[in-house]
Amino acid sequence: AGLAAAESSKKKDVLLGGLLLSGFDQQSCASRYQSVYYRKNMTRSPTPYLIDRLRRQEALQRRCGPGTDAYRRASDRLKSGQKNVDTVDGCSYLVLLSYRGLGNRILAAASAFLYAMLTDRVLLVDRGKTMGDLFCEPFPGTTWLLPLDFPLQGYKDLGEDAAESYGNVTTLRNETGESSEHRFVYMHLDHAASVENKLAYCDDHRQFLHRVQWVVMRTDGYIAPVLFLNPAYKQELHRMFPRKDSVFYIVSRYLLHPTNDVWGMVTRFYDSYLKGADERLGIQIRVFVKDDKPVQHILDQILACTSQERLLPGVLPSVGGSRSGEALRPPPTTTAGARSKAVLVTGLNGWYHDSIREMYWRSASANGEVVSVHQPSREEHQRMFHRMQDMKALAEMYLLSMTDKIVTSGWSTFGYVGTALGGLTPYIMIKPENEEVPDPPCKRAMSMEPCAQGPPYFECTRKEVDKLLDTGNLVPHVRACEDMSWGLKLT
Ligand code: GDP
Repeated sequence: AGLAAAESSKKKDVLLGGLLLSGFDQQSCASRYQSVYYRKNMTRSPTPYLIDRLRRQEALQRRCGPGTDAYRRASDRLKSGQKNVDTVDGCSYLVLLSYRGLGNRILAAASAFLYAMLTDRVLLVDRGKTMGDLFCEPFPGTTWLLPLDFPLQGYKDLGEDAAESYGNVTTLRNETGESSEHRFVYMHLDHAASVENKLAYCDDHRQFLHRVQWVVMRTDGYIAPVLFLNPAYKQELHRMFPRKDSVFYIVSRYLLHPTNDVWGMVTRFYDSYLKGADERLGIQIRVFVKDDKPVQHILDQILACTSQERLLPGVLPSVGGSRSGEALRPPPTTTAGARSKAVLVTGLNGWYHDSIREMYWRSASANGEVVSVHQPSREEHQRMFHRMQDMKALAEMYLLSMTDKIVTSGWSTFGYVGTALGGLTPYIMIKPENEEVPDPPCKRAMSMEPCAQGPPYFECTRKEVDKLLDTGNLVPHVRACEDMSWGLKLT
C-alpha cells in the first residue's frame, strides 16, 4: 500500500548515498530532505567517481561564483572587453539562457550542468521570470542564479546570427587559433540550429573553447546524448555514468529540488489523492493541436494504449444503455477489499480526465478494481514564464514521477521530465497523424532517458558536415528515439 505511508516510518538514506551534501538548511528547502519519503528507492546509484566530481564542481562554484573576487574580475573583463587574458583565476563560466516551456527549460538546465562539469566551468542560469521561484539553490554556499547586474548588454537576445556565435567565430571567420581574443562565445544549440552552430557539440574543448572565459549557451532541450558523440568527453562520461540509461535521473536528483511552495503543492496532492491507492498510473496528455481543443482520437488513443498494455481495466456495459436490458442487470458487486488504482491525469484540457472518470463512474470495472481519476489543474492554454502556471506544471511533473507506471505523449518535454525524474520507463503515445489513432497506439520505451530532439547529423571525428549521417547508430547506448526517429536517446 501507499509507498510514502508504508516507508515513512523507516529511516531512509536522505542524502542518496552521498549524492547530496548535508549541511543545507532543512527549513528553506524541504524537498531536499523529504522527497526520499515520497519516491521509490533509487534504482540507479551514483558512482563514487561521480560523487567526487560533484564535490569538485561545488568547490568550483563556491570559489568562482557570484560575490567572489574572481567573479568580479571576470565580469569586469567581460564588460571592458579586455583581450588576451588567460583565465588567471582558473575561473571560467557557462551562462545558460533557457526558453520555451518548462519541460524544455528543465532539460536545458540538466544538460548545461553536465556540460559545465565536463568543461570545468561555473554554471550560472539566467533566472528568466520564474527559475528562482521553482528550484532551490543546488550548490552549498553560493548561488547558481546569474546576477541581475550581469554586465553583458542584450545577452538575452543573442541568436543564431550573433557575431559571437560559435558558428560565426569558428567556421566562417576561421579564427580558431585565437579564442582568447573573444570576450565571450555564444553557443546556439536550439534544436533547429544551423550545422555551423551545431559543430559546437564537436568542439574539443581543450583546443578552442577552453581559452574563452565566458560561454553563453542557449538550448531548448536535452543534449546529453549528443555529448556522448564527442570523443573528447567519451572517457569522462563513461567514468561518471557507467550506466548510460539514467543520466538525467541521477543529475536531476542532485540538481533539482523544488522550492517549498512547489513541494507543498506536490505533497498535498499526493497525500490527498494518490497515497492510499494500491497502484498509481500517470497519464500525461499533451496535444499539439490548435487551441488545445479536446479531440476524440486522442481519448481513443489513450484508452487503446491503456487497454493494450493492461494498465487500466475495461468496463462492464454501462448504465443508461438500452432500456429493455435494465431488468437483466446484476446488482453492483461490493467493492470492499477490492484493489484500488489511482490515475493521475495531467494536461491543459480537462475533457480527457472527465471522460475517463465518467466511464468508471457509470460502469463497473471488469476486474473489480476501484479506479479513481484525478487531475490537478486544467490551465486550458499554455502561457510562457507565467509564475503560477510554471509552479503547477512543475508540481505535476513531480507527481507524475511518483506514479508506478506512466503513459506519456510523444514529442513532449513535459512528459520526458515527469518520466525521467521518476526513473520510469514510459509507454509513449506516438504523435498522431491525420487525426487517426496510430497503430500501435503506444510503445514501451527503451529507457527512462529524455530524447534529444535536435541532434547533429554528422560525425564529430570527421566533421563532414554536409554529408548527413544517421547518428543513431554511431556509438553504443545512443539510439533513435521511440517517438521521433531523428532524435537521439541514451539507453
Ligand atoms: P512540451 O511543450 O510538451 O514539450 O512541454 P513544456 O513543459 O516545455 O511546455 C509546455 C508548457 O505548457 C508547460 O511548461 C506548461 O506551462 C504548459 N502545460 C502543458 N501541459 C501541461 C499540464 O499538463 N499541466 C500544466 N499545469 N501545464 C501544462
